[in-house]
Amino acid sequence: MRDGRLSVPDFPVIPFLEGDGTGPEIWRAARKVLDAAVRTAYGDRRKIVWKEVLAGEKALRETGTYLPEETLTAIAEHVVAIKGPLTTPVGEGFRSLNVALRQLLDLYACVRPVRYFPGVPSPLVRPERVNTVIFRENTEDVYAGLEWAAGTPEAEALRRFLGERLGVAPDRFDAGTTAFGLKPISERRSKRLVRAAIRYALEYGRKSVTLVHKGNIMKFTEGGFRRWGYEVAEEEFGDRVFTWREYERVKAEKGEAAAEELLAEAKASGRLIVKEAIADNAFQQLILRPEEMDVLATTNLNGDYLSDAAAALAGGLGMAPGANINYETGHAVFEATHGTAPKYAGKDVVNPTSVILSGEMMLRYIGWHEAADVLLRAVEKTLAARIVTQDLGRHMDDATIVGTQAFGDALVRHM
Ligand code: NAD
Repeated sequence: MRDGRLSVPDFPVIPFLEGDGTGPEIWRAARKVLDAAVRTAYGDRRKIVWKEVLAGEKALRETGTYLPEETLTAIAEHVVAIKGPLTTPVGEGFRSLNVALRQLLDLYACVRPVRYFPGVPSPLVRPERVNTVIFRENTEDVYAGLEWAAGTPEAEALRRFLGERLGVAPDRFDAGTTAFGLKPISERRSKRLVRAAIRYALEYGRKSVTLVHKGNIMKFTEGGFRRWGYEVAEEEFGDRVFTWREYERVKAEKGEAAAEELLAEAKASGRLIVKEAIADNAFQQLILRPEEMDVLATTNLNGDYLSDAAAALAGGLGMAPGANINYETGHAVFEATHGTAPKYAGKDVVNPTSVILSGEMMLRYIGWHEAADVLLRAVEKTLAARIVTQDLGRHMDDATIVGTQAFGDALVRHM
């Protein structure tokens, strides 16, 4: 990182982690496709120098530990990395790699684009309207892991504290059988996530950012996220954005017609509209009016649910890429939304597209847009030719169903 920008050499070293279960076969196909896209775009001028790092079952076999320290330091040092899914083993002394990386590198933005490719089966009548990018806060919310099991002294202490110090009625929670979890949502972390979503939306010429929250019920946590989101939009992006909060202010002062006029003007002059949706309504809008759901900025749990639901509209988990990013330090780890799909391991049947599209995000992130475009066109052409893996093919009448490696080869042929 120099002056807040990534400075990328022509032969960058990028650590990869192939992952468990179906991870290695998906990665083999994906790596071939990424290399071919870079070669097609730049010939010999640029090339990714892959560096394998270990975690999960392979790390255990080769080093005796699930998460070698070198893996964390390599990713920290090389800034950008790509990983396959890892099994989360049930056992003691193991930190999940995702949690470890997230904490170590503070990868606060989980970015999950969902776009429809013609030919892919979808439950929607007009799926071509789906093109959404979800910015999910990655470090707080009920996901922060602050939970206490029912019947433990900690849960009891918390229950008593709520009663004695915070005035919660003693019979509000059942003694001895109530579990508790905390939901921290902070100004700084909400603002940096919304800031990242707005910057992305402006850079890629998107039309709107929707703050998805449940602030009508959780007024200070989810409601705080909403308020801080609007604040960051209005205070830091000035006349490049127009917010629904401004709309409401004008409506209250000058009436609805004046507010509508201002909104129309803002749209006509290409300003980014920053609006909001209550989380439950956001699911409905995503299905009924996906074209209105452009870039979404949301808290951790909402984002978790929303991104799988969005993926289902556009081909499912096999088509869903993602990244975990800290935009200040530049650290970014690209990975599919899905897990290890263990029942298909070694069968060469799963869809490598989610990791391949994570690679497309990575190429754009390092500024190699030409290679990313080559890759995207290859995906479009291959799917248009109705060459697919079985997860898509079983919902299609006239598809040619191929294996994981053959699908990767088909992508390379279509470059
Ligand atoms: P999963 O995402 O691995 O699989 C769920 C189902 O989705 C599969 O059975 C399959 O039908 C489908 N699917 C997923 N990926 C696919 C692909 N590429 N192509 C075609 N179909 C695909 O979820 P799970 O079974 O709940 O989890 C399995 C393991 O993965 C668990 O150990 C879990 O902890 C881990 N996991 C890891 C990550 C990660 O590393 N980021 C994320 C989620 C789950």
